[in-house]
Amino acid sequence: MKRALTCIVCPVGCSLEVELDGGKVMSVTGNTCPRGAKYAEAECTAPERTVTSTVRCTDGRILSVKTDRPIPKEKVAECMKIINNAIAPLPVCVGDVIIKDIFGSNVIATKNINAL
Ligand code: SF4
Repeated sequence: MKRALTCIVCPVGCSLEVELDGGKVMSVTGNTCPRGAKYAEAECTAPERTVTSTVRCTDGRILSVKTDRPIPKEKVAECMKIINNAIAPLPVCVGDVIIKDIFGSNVIATKNINAL
């Protein structure tokens, strides 16, 4: 079975073709660097995504956040529900952990917000 993918590792966006046999990656073509083959293999066997979103702070301001490492793609919706229910305490600095250990990742702040 063949699967077509677009590599999302860098802005070039190479068109990849993956040859699969019983869920196992047999070959990857179309990549112009090794990162494309690694991405294709991961995408076909255990896809992951870094989640970016926002969290409301205790005073109502909005804080941008992201997971500090990719999580399994099938867990993204569940992760978003948890993020949507979170409230960030103030003050907050870039890198502060807002939600600890969800699906093997922490949700961290990506901007500073001072207390008023
Ligand atoms: S294969 Fe390499 S050059 Fe092509 S999009 Fe992926 S990372 Fe970029």
